[in-house]
Amino acid sequence: MPLKKSLTLEQIYNLTKDCLIKNHADEANASALANTIMCAERDGSHSHGLFRLPAYVASLKSGKVNGLAKPKVHKLSHSVIKLDANNGYAPLAHEIGLPELIKIAKITGVGILAIHRVHHMAALWPEVEALAEENLAGFSCTSYMPAVAPAGGYSPLFGTNPISFAWPRPGTSPAVYDMATAAMAMGEVQIAARDGKKVPMGTGLDPNGKATTDPSEIANGGVLLPFGGHKGSAISMMVELLAAGLIGENFSFEAKESDNGDGGPPQGGQLIVAFSPDIISENGWAEHCEKFFSRMTDMDGVRLPGQRRHFNRQSQKPREIDSNLLDKIKLL
Ligand code: NDP
Repeated sequence: MPLKKSLTLEQIYNLTKDCLIKNHADEANASALANTIMCAERDGSHSHGLFRLPAYVASLKSGKVNGLAKPKVHKLSHSVIKLDANNGYAPLAHEIGLPELIKIAKITGVGILAIHRVHHMAALWPEVEALAEENLAGFSCTSYMPAVAPAGGYSPLFGTNPISFAWPRPGTSPAVYDMATAAMAMGEVQIAARDGKKVPMGTGLDPNGKATTDPSEIANGGVLLPFGGHKGSAISMMVELLAAGLIGENFSFEAKESDNGDGGPPQGGQLIVAFSPDIISENGWAEHCEKFFSRMTDMDGVRLPGQRRHFNRQSQKPREIDSNLLDKIKLL
């Protein structure tokens, strides 16, 4: 068992913020990203908490990501905001852009926040959950660097291309899903290879383009597949088009061509859409949707997505963090 150390949420936040400030981030950028990392640890989204800090720091050190970024909002129409993230990390762009998006969605019924020149490596639930807390439904997606072959293909073209969606439930936690469109995250494939475990058929292909259950063949020269065969492949293609084509940013393959390979996230785009049920449905939507959620959760074995995180969030106890990771972070 790997050794763990207990850290309070405040300690996680302070450790992250200090580390970012020592590595050329200013107060605003460091505190926005520290909050995102602290919330990931709080909710048990461990793969997007402190685990990612070394890669965030690597891109500040290499100069690929601007730790002094000053995101700027440009209103393109009544319902469309374009936000130039100034080559910074996504959390500060969200802090600045989301209040503007909320304002316009509450007036027009729908709003689009199109973020460009952004570096996104976090979970995608915080941005849509922030919309649901304002009684708006939210959708978001972003692309990355090629790791996934389109259905029928053998080489990487799509990023792991996550999508997230949140539905407001006044008086209680929203229903939120947030998922990569790859069959499995590459990190999990690498861990399975390290531990000598197999992965399910459909996770990826070996270097010869053959389906395999051996994770080391996928991780070493092979490729991941989208979840759900051709259906997941189509959704991943949609993410490329919405996060890159629509916004005028890099597709995953272009992001890789211009990336310096420092291990941090490439420059790309992110789409966030907000819908107002108050305006679109006119009335009664919340009660109506609660009926639907009850039908779902009354079934044995069924839970709403997001429930695991919201349950974890209630605990004020310190979180258990891998000791080796903490040693690595202290060196940064
Ligand atoms: P998971 O497969 O772990 O979970 C996907 C969703 O399914 C979650 O909303 C989860 O809710 C829900 N869920 C899981 N089990 C159940 C269940 N039994 N019943 C109902 N709902 C369930 O996520 P992924 O591994 O696909 O993605 C992990 C993270 O990686 C995401 O946060 C994603 O945004 C992030 N990512 C970010 C990228 C980036 O470039 N920024 C790239 C790729 C991924 P719950 O949380 O409550 O379990």
